[in-house]
Amino acid sequence: FPAEGSDFIREIIRADLASGKHRTVITRFPPEPNGYLHIGHAKAICLNFTLAQEFGGRCHLRYDDTNPTKEEQEYIQAIERDVRWLGFDWGEHLYFASDYFEQMYQWAEKLILKGKAYVCDCTPDEVREKRGTLTEPGVPCEHRNRSVEENLELFRRMRAGEFPDGSRVLRAKIDMSSGNVNMRDPVMYRILHAPHPHAGDKWCIYPMYDYAHPLEDAIEGITHSICTLEFEDHRPLYDWFIDELELPEPHPQQIEFARLNLTYTVMSKRRLLSLVQEGFVAGWDDPRMPTIAGLRRRGVPPEAIRLFAERIGVAKRNSVVDVQLFEHCIREVLNRTAPRRFAVLDPVKLVVTNYPEEQVEWFAVPNNPEDPTAGERQLPFTRELWIEREDVRPEPLPKYFRLYPGNEVRLRGAYLFTCREVITDPHSGQVVEVRGEIDPQSRGGQAPDGRRVKATIHWLSCGHAREAEVRLYDYLFEKPDPDDVPEGKTWRDNLNPNSLTVLKNAKIEPLLAQAAVGERFQFERVGYFAVDPDTTPERPVFNRIVTLKDEWAK
Ligand code: ATP
Ligand code: MG
Ligand code: MG
Repeated sequence: FPAEGSDFIREIIRADLASGKHRTVITRFPPEPNGYLHIGHAKAICLNFTLAQEFGGRCHLRYDDTNPTKEEQEYIQAIERDVRWLGFDWGEHLYFASDYFEQMYQWAEKLILKGKAYVCDCTPDEVREKRGTLTEPGVPCEHRNRSVEENLELFRRMRAGEFPDGSRVLRAKIDMSSGNVNMRDPVMYRILHAPHPHAGDKWCIYPMYDYAHPLEDAIEGITHSICTLEFEDHRPLYDWFIDELELPEPHPQQIEFARLNLTYTVMSKRRLLSLVQEGFVAGWDDPRMPTIAGLRRRGVPPEAIRLFAERIGVAKRNSVVDVQLFEHCIREVLNRTAPRRFAVLDPVKLVVTNYPEEQVEWFAVPNNPEDPTAGERQLPFTRELWIEREDVRPEPLPKYFRLYPGNEVRLRGAYLFTCREVITDPHSGQVVEVRGEIDPQSRGGQAPDGRRVKATIHWLSCGHAREAEVRLYDYLFEKPDPDDVPEGKTWRDNLNPNSLTVLKNAKIEPLLAQAAVGERFQFERVGYFAVDPDTTPERPVFNRIVTLKDEWAK
């Protein structure tokens, strides 16, 4: 068996293979199609598919579509696209839990016949109350003593649609005095007169998660059923259904791991849906969203998500991961793979007073210093250039080595340039133009006398640069924990009003205007960017994926 990876899940799998309990590994990723997948789901996807790959088994994609009212076709398509984009393939193994409804129903009758399930007429509130709490014992109701015959008849009539929603449920008959509340006769079926997006209008009773999930796993021959820690206390119930139904060995084993939580991020589908519905973001694929669709649109490479999933690993204790670790993984991948380009986000004109007006020189600039095979490109240099506003100051400042009158900088790959004059707007004080001279002897950027120049800045020829819109993103929330709010406020009050900044007047090198949607670049000295789907040949649009500065403290 593969040697690498020694977390508790891989240990269990190795032991099961060594003991002969299982001969192969079959995992599953079981989303409920009631929303878009997010980075937390990505952790589960990477884990389940990678385990299957490592051990030579397979991973199923299964829609856990047992709740008809919140599920939609749109979500199904988005889920398949997202899992594929992450780099995983379920092959033939695409399943719908709703395809097992008939089998699940038959098994429920089997439990009734064994005296292990009963129809209960309590209201949902009564059921909850009588099941008690951690500190309060459960109390059986009178329906618990119904005969097998009566239970079977009532359950069949539930299926036949004779009773209104909420009037009756089928419950497992386990132990109302169990220390584990989940074992106090949990509900298996509820009445819900609602058509199902996949099963149609065939059913008006629907199975609950705790009953349905172990059966789905058993039907598909899942060996290791990995879920999040909240389900740890449900595991005895998972095993109870499979054991009482006497399903063939080997039984699937539920294994729990810590769900992913990230700073500055909300992750539940319910909250993500409200961000979309209440208009805080432009849609499920807004580049500020932690959805896979949002991350893809922002320009995050799927390799970076896989790398992140590997780095965080699997643990048995819940924790919150610093979002900067995720950004660190994104930078690590992009630094290796993203071609370098010049772009000026907040342009100011620089005039080289000793450079002829009509002259154009072409300078070769490497496409990726990290990757010698990436080659180089030619950039035009002329008398008038765009540079970044923050690379100029009207007056010197301590530790500021860029442009101010009298200082010399390197125009990357071209010449050394000495600033002579910084022209400002008399009203706003804003810099409007920089003037100065190049040292003609410094062609390529090196001084003939070897004198040191501390700062290197990027530039674009005004006559050649193209315009672009650039969208800068910040965290959606102002606090690391979006739930950190005073009394009476909600997580919505922590939304960051400045999470999006749109720059309409950025300048880019000509090659960038031809880039395809999704292409990623490093804008030198500025950050990593990707082409947004809103882009047009006339008006390229770029999203900032991440800044260059890595704040991740190892
Ligand atoms: P949410 O709680 O965010 O609404 P969910 O758990 O209801 O999501 P499902 O569609 O039921 O969403 O989840 C599919 C799979 O993804 C489950 O196996 C679940 O364990 C896993 N999963 C969901 N959220 C996370 C997370 N934050 N970290 C790790 N795995 C997760
Ligand atoms: Mg769910
Ligand atoms: Mg959930």
